[in-house]
Amino acid sequence: MQLLESNYLDKNRTTLNSMRQNPDPFKILVSCLISLRTQDKNTAIASNRLFAQATTPQQIIKLPLKKLEKLIYSSGHYKKKSRILKSVSKEILERFNNKVPQSEEELLTIKGVGRKTANIVRRFAYNKSDALPVDVNVHRVVNRLGWVQTKDADKSEEELRNILPKKFWEEFNATMILHGKSICVPISPKCSQCMISQYCPRVGVGKSR
Ligand code: SF4
Repeated sequence: MQLLESNYLDKNRTTLNSMRQNPDPFKILVSCLISLRTQDKNTAIASNRLFAQATTPQQIIKLPLKKLEKLIYSSGHYKKKSRILKSVSKEILERFNNKVPQSEEELLTIKGVGRKTANIVRRFAYNKSDALPVDVNVHRVVNRLGWVQTKDADKSEEELRNILPKKFWEEFNATMILHGKSICVPISPKCSQCMISQYCPRVGVGKSR
């Protein structure tokens, strides 16, 4: 983990991770919902277009649905995501007095917010030390490394909480996502270029480069 972390420390972060610099909890929540099942560059385009028009729950609620869909079109699944953004904004406004909650329990009561999103909001917006965001990239890498043997990202998060030393939690998401997108890619990982190949059992890896 140390090797990986030091290798990616100075590399460009994902859109969501970059938002930690000047955190706005609602914008982080919105970008996270936009980022589901799309590439980082599409998340950046859609988020920037939306935030040029609306940055608060009230403003998103007021946006006509068609306009919202157009603004986040580049992120894919834009119809479903627009409906979720509308309902999440309404919940934040009405149930949480216009403030994104900090606790995992409360975040998970919001329709459309799953474990990954709750962890991202808690870690990136509120710097909660017990938040460990795990997405499909992280899930894939840690399974190939043999650190966990799990079927989905939520289960990987649960296992990692037991085995990953706390000192690595802060940068874990950024490090693993960067590794998963540049080297340990989904199809044919670049094992010959991997800085930790000597420690990796390559669980489930068929073809590699
Ligand atoms: S050796 Fe291959 S499978 Fe293992 S972490 Fe590196 S790229 Fe991924």
